[in-house]
Amino acid sequence: MALVVQKYGGTSVADIERIQAVAKRISRSIIEGHRLVVVVSAMSGETDRLLALGRSVSEVPSAQMMDILVSTGEQVSSALLALALQDRGHAVLSLCGWQIPITTDAMHGKARIEDIDVTRLEGFLESYQAVVVAGFQGISSEGRITTMGRGGSDTTAVALAAALSADECQIYTDVDGVYTTDPRVVDNARRLDSITFEEMLEMSSLGSKVLQIRSVEFAGKYHVPLRVLSSFTEGVGTLIRLDKEDDMEQPEVSGIAFNCDEAKLTVRGVPDVPGAAYQILGPIGEASIEVDMIVQNIGAENNTTDFTFTVHRRDFDQALKILLKISEQLGGLEVIGDANIGKVSLVGVAMRSHAGIASRMFKVFADENINILMISTSEIKVSVVVEQKYIELAVRALHTAFQLEKP
Ligand code: ASP
Ligand code: MG
Repeated sequence: MALVVQKYGGTSVADIERIQAVAKRISRSIIEGHRLVVVVSAMSGETDRLLALGRSVSEVPSAQMMDILVSTGEQVSSALLALALQDRGHAVLSLCGWQIPITTDAMHGKARIEDIDVTRLEGFLESYQAVVVAGFQGISSEGRITTMGRGGSDTTAVALAAALSADECQIYTDVDGVYTTDPRVVDNARRLDSITFEEMLEMSSLGSKVLQIRSVEFAGKYHVPLRVLSSFTEGVGTLIRLDKEDDMEQPEVSGIAFNCDEAKLTVRGVPDVPGAAYQILGPIGEASIEVDMIVQNIGAENNTTDFTFTVHRRDFDQALKILLKISEQLGGLEVIGDANIGKVSLVGVAMRSHAGIASRMFKVFADENINILMISTSEIKVSVVVEQKYIELAVRALHTAFQLEKP
């Protein structure tokens, strides 16, 4: 008998038929003798619908009020699932975040969990076969309902698994695991049996939308074994593991992450003096714009340099505005922007020679006649920025070149 936390995403509880199918799956786990905490997302599309409703009433809606509104999505799905389980003859309980309680900070709309008191929950697990918990929501120390950001139910599940020292946290979704790359782009992408936390972090931050990134960080930090599986098909899914034991056996590249919506900005002729980078990036950071890659060229003649960085495309206009202002202050430097770029990364904890991987990667770009705009490396990845229109071509070519396809 194991203590398992299962999380079902929005598509898994999209309608009554699917909720019944989920209930059937949970019922099977109960009959196998497991103790279960089940976390659910809102029915798919519901959170968007509620957000739109709120915005239709108020132009600048209060984040605190919006949290009360959007958190109802999870309250509905958790109650429906509990009802379906009861109908199957199981003793179940349905709880909202605040009833546990899951205490968060007061950052409405993107609250972070501060504490989970599982005393009551552990008591309930003695008398009920499953406890269904509304994901995504918590309560601030002021007693207000909070939500944890889009995809936050993953974090609810992982945090509960950590607090309960569960044997496994299973994330049921509409894909049957983590793939070598997005199967919508590469037909013969392969499901990975396992992947390390570090690799998963790279894969999710770089655009594989399987798990909310914060939940992966949480799972890594608290050593929660995490498994991603499909709620529609049978299978073992992908285990996200902590150990690196078998790394020598692993292929050097585990997967290809990519991101089609980045933008890059360049300031030319920046004086090559101490403080220049800070002068440019300081205001960008103050505007809460997240910067990904940063490249500064070696100083040219007349002691100036070019400074380039990438941001998410949605932040492009704001970043450009800030740079234009700075350039004015610095005496009219040239600012160049390109909002149509993307990033492709080879990810693998078992990468032994970056130079080796990079040169094989660059050969693929050469053969495909794709121009590389920027390059960066870290211990477990090599990333390349190219024009957005070449991203899919690059991903396909790399997938073949690094033999990641199904055997
Ligand atoms: N319902 C929320 C969302 O759509 C949280 C979640 O699904 O995890 O983002
Ligand atoms: Mg980075």
